[in-house]
Amino acid sequence: MNYLFTPPPVVSVPVLGHTERFPVHRIYCVGRNYEDHAKEMGFTGRESPFFFIKPTDALVVVNAGETGTLPYPSLTHNFHHEIELVVAIGKGGKNIQVADAMAHIYGYAVGLDMTRRDLQNDMKKQSRPWCIGKAFDASAPIGPITPVAQAGDITQAEIFVQVNGTDRQRSQVSKLIWNIAEIIAHVSTAWALQPGDLIYTGTPEGVAAVVPGDTLHGGVSGLQSISLQVA
Ligand code: MN
Repeated sequence: MNYLFTPPPVVSVPVLGHTERFPVHRIYCVGRNYEDHAKEMGFTGRESPFFFIKPTDALVVVNAGETGTLPYPSLTHNFHHEIELVVAIGKGGKNIQVADAMAHIYGYAVGLDMTRRDLQNDMKKQSRPWCIGKAFDASAPIGPITPVAQAGDITQAEIFVQVNGTDRQRSQVSKLIWNIAEIIAHVSTAWALQPGDLIYTGTPEGVAAVVPGDTLHGGVSGLQSISLQVA
């Protein structure tokens, strides 16, 4: 087949212990899925799950043991970190039942839902879409995927991010309002899940700004951690 210009490369994420990479289809994100984060954003923490999407080429893939570079984005003066557990889907489906949902997971990774909070808040006030606050270039750092079998019991994991060595966010995956199986079930009622989909499952409380020069170190126990420097 001939194209008018070179097509973009397949976006993919390395998998621990494998030479084959995980090819990415879509990136779904869950909003306000930890009660204390929902409260810090001015909400009650008890609402139905809701979703937004980031473009796949917004991923910043950081290899194990490396420090990635996170470009400070344009248009913002309030660039926030949101540490998140990322679910990597290995088997697609529609209207997946909660009881069957975990069988659709290939593995897990540590991700950051980076946010231009000032722009997101402007859009919220005007009841406009969040795209400019959430779905910008390099807004989705991610570390390597750990296959389910090597990840241990993720539902009991600790989740944290440090900035310049100091804790900013630290919580437990067990505090998810909508748990992993429920998220998969909900997403699959609205979209056909496909192998290669990533789901950023939401962030705990403690979101705050970073500035150029800051170093982020994030983790979920049992998974490869992620390190980035803001440039
Ligand atoms: Mn988020």
